[in-house]
Amino acid sequence: MPQLTRDLWKEKIISKLKSDKGKELEDASNKDIYDIISSMVNEEIMPQWVATQKKYKEENCKQVYYVSMEFLIGSLLESNLLNCGMLQISNEVLESIGKNPQEVYSQEHDAGLGNGGLGRLAACFMDSLASLSYPGHGFGIRYRYGLFEQRIIHGNQIELPDYWLKDNYAWETRKEEEAICIHFRGDVHMFRKNDGNLEFKYENTDKVLAVPYDVPIVGFQNQVVNTLRLWSAEPYYEDKDNVYREGSKYYHDLDHKHSIEQISGFLYPDDSNHEGKELRLKQQYFLVSSSIQNIIHHFKKNYKLPLKRLPEKVVIQINDTHPSLIIPELMRILMDEENFSWNNAWEITTNVIAYTNHTIMSEALETWPTSMMQELLPRIYMIINEINERFCKGIWFDHEELRNQIPNMAIIADNYVHMARLAIVGSFSINGVARIHTEILKKQEMKIFYQLYPERFNNKTNGINHRRWLLQVNPKLAGLITDVIGPQWIQRPKQLISLLKYSKDSSLLERFDTVKSENKQRLANYIYEQTGVLVDHHSIFDVQIKRLHEYKRQLLNIFHVLYLYNELKENPNLNMVPRTFIFAAKAAPSYHLAKEIIKLINKVASIVNYDTTIQNKLKVIFLENYNVSLAEKIIPAADISEQISTASKEASGTGNMKMMMNGALTVGTLDGANIEIRDLVGERNMFIFGLTADEVLNYYQNGGYRAIDIYNTDDRVKRILDQLNQGEFGSHEIEFKDIYYNILYHNDPYFVLKDFEPYIETHELVEQAYRDKLTWLNMSVTNIAYSGKFSSDRTIQEYVAEIWKLKKL
Ligand SMILES: *Cc1c(COP(=O)(O)O)cnc(C)c1O
Repeated sequence: MPQLTRDLWKEKIISKLKSDKGKELEDASNKDIYDIISSMVNEEIMPQWVATQKKYKEENCKQVYYVSMEFLIGSLLESNLLNCGMLQISNEVLESIGKNPQEVYSQEHDAGLGNGGLGRLAACFMDSLASLSYPGHGFGIRYRYGLFEQRIIHGNQIELPDYWLKDNYAWETRKEEEAICIHFRGDVHMFRKNDGNLEFKYENTDKVLAVPYDVPIVGFQNQVVNTLRLWSAEPYYEDKDNVYREGSKYYHDLDHKHSIEQISGFLYPDDSNHEGKELRLKQQYFLVSSSIQNIIHHFKKNYKLPLKRLPEKVVIQINDTHPSLIIPELMRILMDEENFSWNNAWEITTNVIAYTNHTIMSEALETWPTSMMQELLPRIYMIINEINERFCKGIWFDHEELRNQIPNMAIIADNYVHMARLAIVGSFSINGVARIHTEILKKQEMKIFYQLYPERFNNKTNGINHRRWLLQVNPKLAGLITDVIGPQWIQRPKQLISLLKYSKDSSLLERFDTVKSENKQRLANYIYEQTGVLVDHHSIFDVQIKRLHEYKRQLLNIFHVLYLYNELKENPNLNMVPRTFIFAAKAAPSYHLAKEIIKLINKVASIVNYDTTIQNKLKVIFLENYNVSLAEKIIPAADISEQISTASKEASGTGNMKMMMNGALTVGTLDGANIEIRDLVGERNMFIFGLTADEVLNYYQNGGYRAIDIYNTDDRVKRILDQLNQGEFGSHEIEFKDIYYNILYHNDPYFVLKDFEPYIETHELVEQAYRDKLTWLNMSVTNIAYSGKFSSDRTIQEYVAEIWKLKKL
């Protein structure tokens, strides 16, 4: 970086500190510096943002709108600096003024507007769209409280509100003048017009104002800046004069104001587990109504084309079924406001909407009670009813072979609206998120719909943004890779494959080893600061970080720890490579068993970490408050990536991809994208174990699994379960009995005991492999080399080519 630019930067920081903060450099806190740097980045971004939107308008290009209830974007300063090409200078200047860059960047509070994988995927997609110069924008909700902040107190998860907006969010711009009115409830009146068609009018609706806050999405060093538009709910005042006249009335109506602001008040903390709460339904409609009104307004203003040509310029991808009310909402606008006939409106709608499915777990498939829908959204409910009637009639008359399946396909059945069915019927594309997941959708979960609409189903294996998850979070590894194969991989991640040529070069492998070792040392320091536990960076860092769920089987992992601990108690001189088990996970606040598992992990940690007889061979670390920033700290230091879901349950997983890209070796089941990792690196370069999806599905259908038999025949298992039951790990008797009962009396629904033995054996292979340093490093580099496929750039290219049909700017 030229000295001149550096000096200019430094001068600018100093002068802005004076003018914006009234401070001299030596009095400035990290937060002051954070504020200054982010405002300097904004000065760079804003003109590019305006220019990008102008170009889109001039070129009249087709745009994709990604509508999602969650965007887990994490923090933005460092990635914006990187994408603007300013990261290096910023790091240098901060160091020259005696500031630690990471400490400055970490002043930003994560935007935790998502639960986990689904929300993080949306964030990675936003980045890849901009970085590949595609016109793509996101629509989401500006929750005032993101996902709760987790504390662990006496081993228990405690949830605190995440008020991420408390010291202003540097990256948002409020656009009050573009606010949109949303209607709930009210009376629907039907008239017959002179031409014989029906006309609908609504009265006495509850009005809510949707105010957009725009966040710039900066492409990687390409001057493209797209928009993530987040809606905030505010009271709607019909008549401003009235407000002045009756101001005090509005002022005193705080309950009303509060109940409206609740709509964008907080993110529901349940990932995948659906709860039929009215406020959640309000949030969903609030998101889709504001977004589609905005899309139509923009289309009319910029394209000057008749609305029937909407599908030529607009495609809307809905992230899971949460935004599927966009289908009846678009129908409503086209018919009630734009005078389209049903058939013409349906033609437009079903050529604009595309749907991504994220799970096959039945408890996660969304349904809403018809009574709730009817009361909250009367006109929308009428339209869903009509969609359903026409759909069922169509099957009855045109698909005799499916007649007896109508009860399993109807959008409204047993007094519930089935959102996945609505999404399938109302969209032109339905995609799963990994090959096996899409196959299960086609062959099992959505088999009848696949018979009906085979051409709609397609796969788009998930990906991660390799610039954030490698270049940004692991600069040492990225630097080494660039040293070896040049920088092309940053634009074309598949080029990482060039590393294969060097994967047996022992001097190079040593360099990779040094990088991993430094990353582990850094994480060890963080662990010490956070927990007071000293971990040895020569031990194997065995990492499982993800939402806590029975199907993800953190329990299997902690059973392995208990098995090792019991072995060590029998034989303290056991020759084993020391291990550090690292966990991080939030449980949904209402998910009792998940919280029990967190408590168990922490209990085991508190015993194992302080038992001097085992000579520090085992450490168990639970890092609290798992979020994007914590993931960024842990992933570069992982040796082992635990991806051990019950086969068939994990649609794709993306944590597996992040860790592979950072050189961790996967211990995993043949589930989700693990299978596609295996296809690339081969079983020699990872550790596959356990039941297959077919075996699991067969057990579910035909029975034949008895957990109690394993308990009775495997002493290792019996010992662990008895330890839980007899309170050996609890302070009082009843602790952990629920876990015990769930496994033995509910027949271990996620096959923890069934996979226990193969899992233990696989970990013995892990240990053997780790003892052979060069082989291990070779495996690790092989994984990095093949990880390019899992860049979200590849995923986005596939969406563009096969679903969205966009042109690059
Ligand atoms: C990547 C990521 C996830 C998803 O992890 P999985 O292992 O795929 O479940 C969840 N939360 C955060 C913060 C992430 O970064």
